[in-house]
Formats: sequence, structure tokens, C-alpha cells
Amino acid sequence: MHLSSVMAMRATSCGGNVHRGAFLFAAPPPISTHRQNKKGAFFAPKNLSLFPSLNWEKRRSRIIGCCPRVHRVEGEAIEELEEFLVVSFYKFVLIKDPEAEVSKHQAFLEERDIHGRIYVNEQGINAQYSGPRKDALAYAKWLKDDHKFTDILVQTSPSLNGHAFPRLKLRYKPSLVQFEGGTLHLPLLDPSMRATPLPPSEWRKRLEVANEDDMQSEKENFVHNRKFLLLDVRNGYEWDIGHFKGAHRPNVDCFRGTSFGFSAQENQVSDSDPLAGIDKENTDILMYCTGGIRCDVYSTILRQRGFQNLYTLSGGVSNYLQSEGSDKWIGNLFVFDSRLSLPPSTYKSEENEEKGLEIGYQNEQILEMVYHNSTFARCYICSSRLVEFRHRNCANLDCNRLFLCCTNCVQELRGCCCSDCTNSSRLRPVLQGSQRYQKWHVYRDEVFRQ
Ligand SMILES: [Zn+2]
Ligand SMILES: [Zn+2]
Repeated sequence: MHLSSVMAMRATSCGGNVHRGAFLFAAPPPISTHRQNKKGAFFAPKNLSLFPSLNWEKRRSRIIGCCPRVHRVEGEAIEELEEFLVVSFYKFVLIKDPEAEVSKHQAFLEERDIHGRIYVNEQGINAQYSGPRKDALAYAKWLKDDHKFTDILVQTSPSLNGHAFPRLKLRYKPSLVQFEGGTLHLPLLDPSMRATPLPPSEWRKRLEVANEDDMQSEKENFVHNRKFLLLDVRNGYEWDIGHFKGAHRPNVDCFRGTSFGFSAQENQVSDSDPLAGIDKENTDILMYCTGGIRCDVYSTILRQRGFQNLYTLSGGVSNYLQSEGSDKWIGNLFVFDSRLSLPPSTYKSEENEEKGLEIGYQNEQILEMVYHNSTFARCYICSSRLVEFRHRNCANLDCNRLFLCCTNCVQELRGCCCSDCTNSSRLRPVLQGSQRYQKWHVYRDEVFRQ
């Protein structure tokens, strides 16, 4: 693996169905691990490192404002772990008056506890948000009551530490996903210009039909006379913690600048463009991304460039894991919220249990093949294999780069991405175990404000 190219990666300006990448979203706050005893006093479990510079009252108010919520019953405080969900949906549909649509949503959400990103424009809606189950589902239900959105696919997953987004951003946005040059000029509202969506079960069958040995072998199989191409339409760093077997690492660290299929000399084999040299008429291109929206957008561009057989995984990987379990999938799913990474078992559904699908099971042999000569699940600093398939942000608040790091390197570099960053005056302390940091603004506004 060539480290310098990976080191150059930053998540700041990236994001497909997200808008600021995972950059600003530190992991679940350590505060949610606090517990309250019967007398109502708060205590931290042993060995939990906190921030001495934060005064206790501030912390206490944040604890109460956060999940778990405290309810008083007959004079005694009891703790109730309220269930939080992350919900996502999008739809391309003509919205004649997007500003009015935004106002309607604002009015509905006023009294509800919803954080996240909800964007609306003439081409439709794109939303990822978190909230207590009741509020989170009420909003989705309310949306579906509008005939424009009745058939929208609403996807949910648990958020174990309360909100997965720092605040609510609900507004008109010229591009529903960040994409160079915007998306308003793209024919998103014309289904014939988008790829054909495949339901997850159909997607799985297609992958089965494809010769897996072939898919697993080296790059030359990506070009010339192939009838089948599996295209990961995400960022390289997302591939690094999980992907479909046989999908090559996207050679981009920023989806919005993706230019697959744009190679000037399309008969040339290009390292950075898996679509270079592809027979546009006779190759089935199977595209996937996290929730489906990036593929839908990108497929219109490929359609305009003459690619004829375009298919997308309907609802993206999250929908697939929910419906089919982890069959054909390796590793975890990168998500653009404070959870950062979801193991396939997150989506364990009763239906899957009944079907007896092996969820979360990883075939060691296949893992071996993926580890071989790739950046999959490797420390970006020392290249050793990772136990935890989850990124972290650089401890240096002024760098904040998103990267993969082994526990040794975390210790050695104090959570930084490089030795330069360890000299910063604004270093966030490394927290125990798999915890990342408190929310970004806590450090900016409280810890480091001098
Ligand atoms: Zn390392
Ligand atoms: Zn750094």
C-alpha cells in the first residue's frame, strides 16, 4: 500500500449523501456512559476519563440533555434508556415550491426531537436524521401521508448513544448530494435516465452468477470484454472498512469529484477509472453505495456518457444488509454520522433470523484474500491489520482528518494522524476503548477556548 496517497486523504470536503462528511461528527460522547444512582447523583463508571476542564454543572446539564433520559417517578429518579433511531430516506420527485415544503417540515418538526440533515429542492428530498423512536418514526409517517412520498423507502437503524447528529439542518439546498457542478442540471427526475434499481435479493443473485474467482483476481479483469462490472460508487476510505466481495477500491477519496467513465481515451486502461475501456453496450454495470442516492445521481451522468446497462442496488448497502444479511459483503458499513461504522449485525432483522442467514459472519479465507495487498482494514500509519473496523478523527482539532488506526499507533501518536499533529496545542484526549471524542463543538467552544 502506498501510504502517502492514503495520508493525503481528508474527509473535510467529501460526502455523497452527506454534506460535511463525517468530519465534524465526533463519536458518541463519553457522557452517555454515565449512570445515575438512586439518590439522583451522577457517577462515572471506573476508568472513564473525562475532561477536568469542564465544570461539573455543565457536564450534568449535558447528561440530562442527552440519552439516557432521566424520568422522575414517585420522587425517585430512575433511568430510562430511550431508544434512538437513525432514519434515512430520499426521493427524486418534482417539488414545485421547495421553500414551502421546507416550511411545512419545519412546522411539523418544531416540537419534535430530531437532529440531522434534511435537504429539499425542486428535485426532491434527501434526509438522514436521528431521534427518539417515537419522533423519528412519526416524521417518516407524516412524510408518507403526502402522496408525493407514499412509496418512499424509509430505512432505520439503531443509535445506541442518543443522537447521531449534532443538530438539525433542514433547508433548501441546490444539490441534494454534494457533487461537483451541482445536480440541478442532471435529469434526476427522469427514471429512464437513471439506472435500473435491483431489489437486494436480485442483487445477491447477480453477484452469485458472476464468477467470484474472476472478481477476486487482479485489476485486468476490470476491463475488456467483461460482461459484468461491480462498481463501488463511494469513497476509498469507505471501502477500507467494508465492501461487496469483488468490488475494487474506488480510487477517489471524495465522491463529489468522481470522474469514473470520463477518461479522455476510453480505450485506455486507467488505474483511476474502472470504466475506461469498458464496452458500454455489452457490459452490465452494477453500482452500489450506502443508501442508493449517490448511485442514482451518478447513473444519470453515466447514462449521458453512453453507458447502457446500468443497475443500482435499491436502497444501497443498508437496505441489502437489512434484507439479505452479510452474504457477499465483507466488513462493516461506513456511515456519515457519529456512529461512523456499522457491523452487518446492526441490521439483524427477525425475518433474517428466521431465514437463518448468517449475519456478521466473515469467512476467514475471503478476509485473507481481501487483506492481501490492499488497504482493507489496515492501519493507515503502520499498515498492520485492524481489529476494529472503524475510523477515527485525528486528535488534533485543527486537523481532524478521518483515518484508520491500530491501537498501538493510537497510543504512540496520542490519537493523531501523524507526528506533526502531536505538537498541536489543541489535542483532544484519547478516550478509552472504542469511544472516539465528544462532539466537536465541545472542544472548540469549551475545552480549548482561551
Ligand atoms: Zn498502526
Ligand atoms: Zn492530523
